[in-house]
Amino acid sequence: MIVSESYVAISAFAQPSKIDLKTKSKRYREKYSNMQTIPLQSGIIYGPVRSRRLGWSLGLNISPISYKFCSFNCVYCQYGWTTICTLDTTDRLEDFPTPDDFEKALESALLEHEGEEIDNITFSGNGEPTLHPKFEELVDIAKKLREGYFPKAKLGVLSNSSTVDMKKVHRALTKLDFRIMKLDAGALETFKKINRPCPEVNYGTILNGLKSIENVTLQTMFVDGKLQNIGEREVKEWVERVGEIKPVKAQIYSLHRPPAASSLREVTAEKLGEIAAQTEKAAGVTVEAIVAASPYRKRYNEPYRK
Ligand code: SF4
Repeated sequence: MIVSESYVAISAFAQPSKIDLKTKSKRYREKYSNMQTIPLQSGIIYGPVRSRRLGWSLGLNISPISYKFCSFNCVYCQYGWTTICTLDTTDRLEDFPTPDDFEKALESALLEHEGEEIDNITFSGNGEPTLHPKFEELVDIAKKLREGYFPKAKLGVLSNSSTVDMKKVHRALTKLDFRIMKLDAGALETFKKINRPCPEVNYGTILNGLKSIENVTLQTMFVDGKLQNIGEREVKEWVERVGEIKPVKAQIYSLHRPPAASSLREVTAEKLGEIAAQTEKAAGVTVEAIVAASPYRKRYNEPYRK
């Protein structure tokens, strides 16, 4: 198990027991009701930002900027609830940046940051990047510009995996240096509860798609509370799926920013460590537990502290 070095578990952020949560639930709800998810990215390029998983990463947001468009509606999403939840972009093509806009924005950002430290250039942003109707073309543009300005930076994607069965997406994914693909659930029931996918998304197709991609890294958000994926059954099922997919590694983490569903609780570093150890033992897959003091706790009166 690897615990991300720059983000060491801090015991002061450990969760209280269930009894504590019950007795303090009213105060907890009051505090959490003030929490805000973060605003959508307002342009194509953001950062470079210091990422828990990626070091200095220049973000590429190729989703609409005036509303949240995604194929999932995850209960923990830092951008709040999804406005339009679908895989179908046909009625909204004009809301996505064109390849020309994308190229201009990226080239200008790379010029602006020349000489700075950028470890990764990452498709991520307001929603699911692979939903962009010309995702493959944008990958080709980004590769070309990366070669010209930051040849040492890795080019990759953070994806929710909902499009892995689409041939053009699959092809684009293989052109990238890294593919960090979401798998938060080991069974359909948990998938529906945590990721709340649009009706066109098929869980079995995602699993098969993930198995068919080489050198895939899985990313998993574990959450606790009324909606959770850390129960004994849920973790066992997830470990089984990880063993079937056989990724190069899995990155697991918990809440770092206020989630869409305010009832969610952060999972402790200790629990993430347990899940990592269990997975490595049962599935033979390297697991990186990424733990961090949540900055939003400080801002919002640290509801888990006693
Ligand atoms: S897949 Fe990502 S952007 Fe979409 S709802 Fe989930 S966390 Fe938010």
